Amino acid sequence: MAVPLTEPVAIGSTGPRMRARVAGEIAARHAAEVDAAARFPAEAFEAIRAQRLLGIQVPSALGGDGVGIAEVADVCYQLGQACSSTAMTYAMHQIKCACILRHRGTSVALERLLRKIASEQLLLASSTTEGQGGGNIRSSEAPVLHQDGRISLERRASVISYGAYADGIVTTARRAPDADASDQVMVVFLKSDYTLTRLQGWNTLGMRGTCSEGYTLEAAGAPEQILPEPYADIHVRTMVPTAHLLWGSVWAGIAASAVVRAQAFVRTAVRHSGGQPPPGAAQFGQALSSLRTLRSLLSSAIRTYERHMHDPKALAGMEFQSMITLTKVEASELAVSTVLRALRVCGLSGYRCDGEFSIERQLRDVLSSPLMINNERILANLAGTMMLSPIPSSVSE
Ligand SMILES: Cc1cc2nc3c(=O)[nH]c(=O)nc-3n(C[C@H](O)[C@H](O)[C@H](O)COP(=O)(O)OP(=O)(O)OC[C@H]3O[C@@H](n4cnc5c(N)ncnc54)[C@H](O)[C@@H]3O)c2cc1C
Repeated sequence: MAVPLTEPVAIGSTGPRMRARVAGEIAARHAAEVDAAARFPAEAFEAIRAQRLLGIQVPSALGGDGVGIAEVADVCYQLGQACSSTAMTYAMHQIKCACILRHRGTSVALERLLRKIASEQLLLASSTTEGQGGGNIRSSEAPVLHQDGRISLERRASVISYGAYADGIVTTARRAPDADASDQVMVVFLKSDYTLTRLQGWNTLGMRGTCSEGYTLEAAGAPEQILPEPYADIHVRTMVPTAHLLWGSVWAGIAASAVVRAQAFVRTAVRHSGGQPPPGAAQFGQALSSLRTLRSLLSSAIRTYERHMHDPKALAGMEFQSMITLTKVEASELAVSTVLRALRVCGLSGYRCDGEFSIERQLRDVLSSPLMINNERILANLAGTMMLSPIPSSVSE
């Protein structure tokens, strides 16, 4: 296993990082089969539940570990080295947990839900993509309807990863039928609250085990299932930062696993050729350096987020928003280039779809990263803002 994403800290034998190692070993054992069959990583999630990793952000008073974003990112990084689909599923669940945790206000119902996540190890899925709207998260078509003290929602959710395997779905929606598309709320529905009717399958190049099929989601519940704060605030303060940091950590984990393979390949090749390095060995330094840049980019962004976490003004500010937005773009591009360099190191052995030095699965999986909210969409949205950003006058700023 490669080093943790953030600086090493003293870890107890039962800390989430240690427990993630146990789950990661099981996830790694089944990763090839999960990918080949495009099936849910059931064994990995059995292990994740057994290691009680789904409720790690839930405060200890509510039955969880009460850990922060850095520790969650490390778990994502470790799982990313084992099985990309397991890691991305875990990351998406933790993003939803962070939204509920930080924006539950004084809601007793949502506090009860957090307890349930920790005690019953519930897995939450995410529904933001709707109809033909793609990754335009700040716009919803389907509204929440209120009638006789109940709420209901019917939404064409074109992508819900592991929707069929989740215990609940956290979805964005228009606040009401007469609200603007950007006047959104976030709602939590548990499995007994909804039905899913399959619209499309998930036969993709990579991330095949996320089973990100499309569904019509028909849900009903109590008004308390709506997070009390507007989605606009949740988006800026929690959804975007945690998504970018945890997705990035998964992609860094995938990149690390490719670099580990590249290192093993060079060592083996040198051993078998009387000390002569293979032609691709020269690329190894660059693969390692690119991984290091990726890790320090994420580590620094995590620290910045931790610093501003409880300061809504700073989180909404242009400086933080452009930093956290670009972190996604840069992390995904660096992850792809790191894996490509590892492939060059391994040469034909990396290009093969079999064998211990194959980089094929990592490459297919990591290619989803610039598309998971298209980097071009993100850059286009940011372009205007960036023109107003001051250029630092010193290297240490
Ligand atoms: C591995 C993975 C897991 C994901 N999991 C989830 C999840 O759990 N929940 C979730 O809500 N989303 C999920 N997504 C979807 C993701 O959030 C984005 O919605 C998706 O990546 C599309 O982003 P985009 O619109 O920026 O990019 P693009 O795909 O590059 O652009 C899509 C744009 O093309 C247009 N378009 C798309 N299809 C058509 C069509 N058939 N006809 C006409 N126009 C079309 C749309 O206008 C849309 O704006 C996942 C994506 C990936 C890669």
